[in-house]
Amino acid sequence: MVVIEALDKSYGSSDSALLALSDIDLTIEEGQFVSLLGPSGCGKSTLLKIIAGLIPASAGRITIDGKVVDGPGPERAVVFQDYALFPWMTVQDNVEFGLEARAVPAEERRAASAELLRVVGLSDFAQKFPHQLSGGMKQRVSIARALAVKPSLLLMDEPFGALDAQTRQGLQDELLRIWRVYKKTVVFVTHSIEEAIYLSDRIVVMTARPGRIKAVIDVDEERP
Ligand code: ADP
Ligand code: ADP
Repeated sequence: MVVIEALDKSYGSSDSALLALSDIDLTIEEGQFVSLLGPSGCGKSTLLKIIAGLIPASAGRITIDGKVVDGPGPERAVVFQDYALFPWMTVQDNVEFGLEARAVPAEERRAASAELLRVVGLSDFAQKFPHQLSGGMKQRVSIARALAVKPSLLLMDEPFGALDAQTRQGLQDELLRIWRVYKKTVVFVTHSIEEAIYLSDRIVVMTARPGRIKAVIDVDEERP
């Protein structure tokens, strides 16, 4: 469970500070698919990066399963809009990167990447390099890489924002399928209402200047 309490974030020095997030309180339950939805500049990415431990909050705190977040941690993986793959590494090495960093033995790494590449439908592309793949395929590699480290929390920052409508739809379905299989807690940033409704259990609607939570909507319709 993720608990966010009285969180503020300002950027810049105190006399010219921009209040990007103000008074954010939010609880995210285990296994939930939560979207952060709102217009550009409302602080969605900022909130995601603070949960990821990539930037500090200015006030308030976040706990994950009771542990205070004060930096990145092995139980959180982030997927970015621009894929952030390592261009000099093969698809397989990209997927295995986090495991190698954790000194997982080669045989185990290979088994894990083979399984994940199968899950995202890219078994035949293990030895390709990122520039040889389409955008949708690159994002599938990025999702496989995130899942490889078995995070309990998957943080996604407009992951399908750079993709055409058809690819986006395909990846939304794929993400839902993966989410059901792996039962991860997902926090998903989007500015698309349709995408948020399609994917989420819970939609956190944010407004800008300063970034605040305007409403929290539980989507209880049967999803595809
Ligand atoms: P969103 O993801 O909803 O578009 P962001 O979290 O990117 O919103 O940005 C929230 C506000 O904080 C915006 O006004 C943005 O310009 C500002 N901001 C974001 N990152 C920085 C930064 N590194 N330095 C200064 N201001 C920033
Ligand atoms: P998606 O990645 O969601 O399947 P894309 O539009 O990115 O959608 O690609 C559609 C399909 O075209 C891919 O699934 C793949 O089969 C094929 N494809 C795309 N790029 C390549 C490539 N560089 N080499 C071989 N096949 C490709």
